[in-house]
Amino acid sequence: MVKHPFIGLVALGPIDPNILRSLRTALAKFLPLPVRVLQPKPLPPETYNPVRDQYHASQLLEFLLDDADTGALRILGVTAGDLYIPVFTFVFGEGQLNGKAAIISVFRPRDDAREPTPPRRVFLRRILKLSLHELGHTFGLEHCRQDGCLMGFSSTLEILDRSNIALCEYCQIFLTDYFRDQGLLPSFKQYAEIHAPAVPTPTAGGSRKHHPGAPRRKAE
Ligand SMILES: [Zn+2]
Ligand SMILES: [Zn+2]
Repeated sequence: MVKHPFIGLVALGPIDPNILRSLRTALAKFLPLPVRVLQPKPLPPETYNPVRDQYHASQLLEFLLDDADTGALRILGVTAGDLYIPVFTFVFGEGQLNGKAAIISVFRPRDDAREPTPPRRVFLRRILKLSLHELGHTFGLEHCRQDGCLMGFSSTLEILDRSNIALCEYCQIFLTDYFRDQGLLPSFKQYAEIHAPAVPTPTAGGSRKHHPGAPRRKAE
């Protein structure tokens, strides 16, 4: 067990410090762990693809891990660069399944074709969901098909906006067990009780299948 576990937030490239602070505050309300803003890092140029004008998300995760000696239990990179992995046009973020690093981009959440400048609260809600989703992967959660579950795969902002900031009952149990096994209780109990009003109760035949297109080790 890590003695004083915390989540480290790392700006990758230029990011408005207010965004990072707001995200830290919001994440701390949902996670049973302290959240700290760590030293920012520049975006490594070798992860940039000039043809796509995007950054390779998986390579950025490796970059985050290369310098992971921060004592953080998990590291969440936040970048303004648009992210991709080769099989997708773009990804909102990526998290290592049962790993240490995750990353999200604020590029698409604030560049909405339907609403060019989304209100700040909408934008913050999006990046909070993305952060919790990607960190969820690092805690072993795969994609979930329960209606509204935060671990559902979001391919568009519309889908992202429809999801709850809450896990379904199955994911909640998985996460609670995961934390207990890692000696990291208190669990995410509060997370479900306060923020899950719209999550339907799973039925006996409820699906716990994962998104078929999801990579095994690194989930978008
Ligand atoms: Zn779920
Ligand atoms: Zn995912």
